[in-house]
Amino acid sequence: MSQKQVAVYPGSFDPVTYGHLDIIERGLEVFDEIIVAVAQHAEKKGLFTTAERIALIRSAVGDDPRVRVDTFQGLLVDYVVSQGARVILRGLRAVSDFEYEFQIAQMNRNLRGEVETLFMMTSVPYGYLSSSIVKEVASLDGPVASLVPPPVQKALAEKYSRIRT
Ligand code: ADP
Repeated sequence: MSQKQVAVYPGSFDPVTYGHLDIIERGLEVFDEIIVAVAQHAEKKGLFTTAERIALIRSAVGDDPRVRVDTFQGLLVDYVVSQGARVILRGLRAVSDFEYEFQIAQMNRNLRGEVETLFMMTSVPYGYLSSSIVKEVASLDGPVASLVPPPVQKALAEKYSRIRT
């Protein structure tokens, strides 16, 4: 029996967008299992808590047993190895993503040569979609229905109505 191919898809996911979901969906065409790993940065405070981000990802991927949603602290490569995975899956949008991703991938290879980073190109409709742009539009009460799934839309509306009042 061949071994299960597991990839870790790490990120902030603050919050999850259709761009992320597209990468997960396409990643499942290549890997048997994907672990969506929400990074916990002590110094980087986002809009949603880690628990909220996880719940929103879970609601978006449904009960697909091939997708695990988790969180990690510390070095990503150590987390990847601890999960029995060997691949880090990342998405690439515009050229502007490249420099940063290249640097991180090189550093991760220095840290753990056995872990490979794999990039998947964004699908054209999501090329300019990011969590930051979604938050910006939602904070101004703009429409985000084409950018994020309904539970995320609702959570954004709730967050910003609380911030505004
Ligand atoms: P990070 O803070 O680690 O960049 P993000 O949640 O912003 O976390 O992104 C996680 C991963 O998903 C990154 O590899 C990013 O390039 C990718 N990603 C985000 N949005 C899109 C999109 N619209 N299309 C393709 N990949 C995307």
